[in-house]
Amino acid sequence: MTFLFDLPPNPALAVLGEEARFPVGRIFCVGRNYAAHAVEMGNEVDREAPFYFMKSAQAVIGTGESVPYPLGTSDLHHEMELVVAIGASGVHIPLENALDHVFGYGAGLDMTRRDLQAAAKEKRRPWDTAKNFAASAVLAPLCPAASFGSLADRRITLSVNGETRQDASLSEMVWSVPEVIAHLSTLYHLQPGDLIMTGTPAGVGPVVAGDWIEGQIDGLPPVSLHIAP
Ligand code: MN
Repeated sequence: MTFLFDLPPNPALAVLGEEARFPVGRIFCVGRNYAAHAVEMGNEVDREAPFYFMKSAQAVIGTGESVPYPLGTSDLHHEMELVVAIGASGVHIPLENALDHVFGYGAGLDMTRRDLQAAAKEKRRPWDTAKNFAASAVLAPLCPAASFGSLADRRITLSVNGETRQDASLSEMVWSVPEVIAHLSTLYHLQPGDLIMTGTPAGVGPVVAGDWIEGQIDGLPPVSLHIAP
């Protein structure tokens, strides 16, 4: 088969202790999954059901890169998140089996054009332009679930130019990782390669040209991004 033009390369994440890489499929993102972040954005905590938006694989960039300040915004925000990598397919996955479908975990940044998101919310429009754009999914190498161990109450933090902006525990999630997997699998047939960005704690805020953003989750490789001057 021939193509009219070259296909874009599919992103693939490095895996600790493995030669082979994890090819990225769909990227599901959970909204408002930490109570204090929901409140800082002016929303109530909702335990009715989690909700989602998506990023495309073309939005992925690896850790440690320097990127220009994005198009179309003057309010680029950082959101530090735990990324869950799905390694086994499943649909209507029972809560008690949910973690069996996890390949591994990683640290990620859900970079957000907050001004476009605010305008979209105001007009009850979708969030795509706020969330899905070049270099908006910054993803660190994955740690296999077996070597990571329990999610428990690991600390999740983010700093900008060395100053801490986000500092929370994974145990503060409104919807736990098993709950998210079980619920998402009632909407989509999950497949190996799917990633779930599990939402951000409180402390989101703007970054400007020249800033260094670094995020850490206990036991995982850090994720960083530089906004070019
Ligand atoms: Mn987010």
